[in-house]
Amino acid sequence: MRREQDMHKPQAAATVIGHRQAPVAASRVPHSESIRTAGAATVAVGPSRGVLKRSTASAAPRGVNPKQAAVPKTVGVGASRRKPWDLKGKVNDMEDKIRNFQTKARSVNEEMEALKGSLSHSQSRVSQMEKEVEQQRSQISKYEIELQALSHVRQELEKVSSDKSFLQKELSNLEEKYKVMETLRDSQETELQALKMKLSVQESTMTRLQSTLRDREEEVHSLKEMVAEQKEELHTGEMERRRLHNTIQELKASQRSPGNIRVFCRVRPLVSGGLSKHIQLPASDDKSIVLAKTEESHTGKVADTQKNYNFSFDRVFGPQASQQEIFEEISLLVQSALDGYNVCVFAYGQTGSGKTYTMEGEEYDDTRGVIPRAVQQVFKAGQKLAAQGWEFTFTASFVEIYNETLRDLLYTGKASKRPEHEIRKMASNEVTVTNLTYEKVYTEDQVQGLIAVAKRNRSTAQTSQNDRSSRSHSVFQLHIEGVNAGRDVTCKSTLCLVDLAGSERMMKSQSQGDRFKEMTAINSSLSNLGIVITSLANKESHIPYRNSKLTYLLQGCLGGNSKTLMFVNISPESDSFGETLNSLRFASKVNDCVIGTASSNKK
Ligand code: ADP
Ligand code: MG
Repeated sequence: MRREQDMHKPQAAATVIGHRQAPVAASRVPHSESIRTAGAATVAVGPSRGVLKRSTASAAPRGVNPKQAAVPKTVGVGASRRKPWDLKGKVNDMEDKIRNFQTKARSVNEEMEALKGSLSHSQSRVSQMEKEVEQQRSQISKYEIELQALSHVRQELEKVSSDKSFLQKELSNLEEKYKVMETLRDSQETELQALKMKLSVQESTMTRLQSTLRDREEEVHSLKEMVAEQKEELHTGEMERRRLHNTIQELKASQRSPGNIRVFCRVRPLVSGGLSKHIQLPASDDKSIVLAKTEESHTGKVADTQKNYNFSFDRVFGPQASQQEIFEEISLLVQSALDGYNVCVFAYGQTGSGKTYTMEGEEYDDTRGVIPRAVQQVFKAGQKLAAQGWEFTFTASFVEIYNETLRDLLYTGKASKRPEHEIRKMASNEVTVTNLTYEKVYTEDQVQGLIAVAKRNRSTAQTSQNDRSSRSHSVFQLHIEGVNAGRDVTCKSTLCLVDLAGSERMMKSQSQGDRFKEMTAINSSLSNLGIVITSLANKESHIPYRNSKLTYLLQGCLGGNSKTLMFVNISPESDSFGETLNSLRFASKVNDCVIGTASSNKK
């Protein structure tokens, strides 16, 4: 647009007529400048009224007729010299002037046309340029978008380069590590070499040892075979021992009478400590006892007569015999129980004769009786047999039979809830008692504890009924079960240790009511015991086990398949003479019994 203004300037300059200005060489002026030059010529003519120079004509714009331009040449000269009267000349001058102006106007018009053409040209150029500008703008916006895209790319690039530098660092780290690893690998390789060497040495040692091991294994194998053979021999030996043990006992029993019932007599010491005259124990013989009764002469003229009652048993123990000595004699029987024979040990005798002392004894080691010692032996023997593959379980029960009623002596519950018991015979001929405590025992202490519980149970009963323990039988039973899994052998037996009720006979006149009932019960059960033993001895078809609770309970332990030992306990006091005689007679009757030959419960 500025250009456009510049282009109009010459036109405006042309209108300022009469302004004196030196003409400019036309040849050097561009097309547009030439227009101004024409204007300047016009200016020069007016005010100066001078002569038009030739140069003006030559400088006339294109399109201006040079002839027309040359006209004023004479006019100017004539006018300045015209005489005031020369009107015609003056008119001519005027006409010249007019012509001059007309020419001028034409040139101006031409100039105008030229300018118009130039203007439209310029306008078209301007619009073209506008278009160009527009194009360039769109181009610029395109470039801007591209630039934006490029800035993203740049950011990406920056990120990539930072990543790269990070990765380079990593790489250098890894390279360092790699170097370290390489050195490590090298050292390990040397180590490996050393180890390989060692290994090969050890491998050769190992082959050597393996061959030694094979030799040893063969040795062990042959030794094992030897051990097995020896075990077999041992087992055969053990079986032989049992057989011989049994034979010895049978022989012992048959020294007096054949059979399996043996009777020991034990005389209690006098409470005062002195000697009792009516009981004589021959020093040379430990199997005899003499009961002597001196009958005073009624007349006094003849000497007193003495009546002797001789008895002999399997053993007779005097008042000095210790609990240990007693047990040594019966320990063989206890061994039989472990070998699978049922064993019954009874203590028979009048109240106060020492039955409980013999069976239970007292708390201290020396005074301990048959039950704790037997249990101790059973446990010890069981442990020894374990080495030969035997495994034993022991179950204990303790029952009191009072007035033909059973009472559990191991019961520890409330007295009001004490259950009733019944004796049941199983299909296997084994006898069990309902609701009875059967306690598994593992140690001697445990058995001692059970004896204590039994004592407490008996003493509570005693407070309500005086001296009840002497009026009841107490039966301790240890059920033994042995398994030799390796040899597929089992054995089962019961060790019964019975403290019988007092055997004293009471005068019928002395006993009434409950006492009479009690007495009858005791008498009948003791006499039934005698009858059962005798019936067994006589091999009678019917054995009256069921006649009393005692024999019914013990039926499995009496008879053919059992070994029986009876202690007959004697009170040494002279006033017990009658009872002692009764006891010895009863025991003799039992001792004369032959109850077949026992066979063990081995399967
Ligand atoms: P029982 O049970 O037959 O009624 P006990 O065993 O209770 O008789 O004995 C009565 C008393 O005699 C007890 O005080 C007991 O300690 C004592 N006695 C029994 N036998 C012996 C003995 N061999 N040595 C020492 N004292 C004994
Ligand atoms: Mg007693």
